[in-house]
Amino acid sequence: MKLLELLTQTPGIAGREERIRAVIRKEMENSCDEVRSDALGNLIGLKQGSGRGKIMLAGHMDEIGFLVKYIDDKGFIRLQPVGGFDPRTLMGQRVVVHGKEDLLGNLSPSTKPVHILTEEEKKKQLQVKDFFVDLGLPPEQVKEKVEVGDPVTLRQEFARVGNNYSSKAMDDRAGVLVMLEAVKKLQQHPADIYLVATVQEEVGLRGALTSAFGIVPDLGIALDVTLAADYPGGEEPEYVTRLGAGVAIKIMDSASISDHNLVKSLRDIARSENIDHQMEILPRGGTDAGSIQRSQAGVPVATLSVPCRYVHTVNEMVSRKDLEAAINLLSSFLTQTDPLKLKIGTA
Ligand SMILES: [Zn+2]
Repeated sequence: MKLLELLTQTPGIAGREERIRAVIRKEMENSCDEVRSDALGNLIGLKQGSGRGKIMLAGHMDEIGFLVKYIDDKGFIRLQPVGGFDPRTLMGQRVVVHGKEDLLGNLSPSTKPVHILTEEEKKKQLQVKDFFVDLGLPPEQVKEKVEVGDPVTLRQEFARVGNNYSSKAMDDRAGVLVMLEAVKKLQQHPADIYLVATVQEEVGLRGALTSAFGIVPDLGIALDVTLAADYPGGEEPEYVTRLGAGVAIKIMDSASISDHNLVKSLRDIARSENIDHQMEILPRGGTDAGSIQRSQAGVPVATLSVPCRYVHTVNEMVSRKDLEAAINLLSSFLTQTDPLKLKIGTA
């Protein structure tokens, strides 16, 4: 899983995907016939088929992070979040400020140390804007190396934890990995396959929309992580998915309802090939499928999800078995599917 480690450890917040884009470009150049990027920065690889329509795959390459918003006279940095954070998960974290060089920093809430907090102060709910970055440098040096608008990413090493992998940015580098690996396995396939590493998903599925307009696909499949809330604190009906129980075939989330026949086709393939799978209904949250679906005059879509615990923390955890199942189901689907014959949409 060297590639997953490289993908998760390379920085790329929404709007500043240049470093992760360069890594993915190299991978695509090995497996695609053409690779280009568009005006927003989406990276698009084409793997030519036998001329039977176009399938668009989308895995977003941006991760949640911050922008430097303000540097005070003591050299402490305030942050603008880019994407959705739970402030409770930011306690005690380290970040990297991508200024003139990469600078390691400590993230801390602007409160007194716990030893001297009053009972009343302890009850205060922290917000993201309460956090600041301490680079451990004198203010002149901070101002010399860092400017307002520089990106900031969370730092956490990639680790094998039991049977699972844990890191920052599994959302959605795990989806990007599934897309890249599934296509590497392909031999003959009917459709032209467009692999899109999309930008700006975390701020509203923006890159998928423009790239879908550029490609005009016959159908779209988003590859993303989804919640696996199967740990203490959750009720079983609210788990969404279980870690290790296989790739999740999405029925709906709050941004898209998957095409019914496409879901059926994915499920039939998973069943006939004994690929571990589960069906997913996510009450809140969305994937790039929500944007692809609404491009042009409408595009039938589905999402294949990799179950993930602790989403939007630095310890996002995915299962090795689920990754394999997702890669296998996607490559079988691409091998078998002729979008011009598949009964999709309202047909
Ligand atoms: Zn995601």
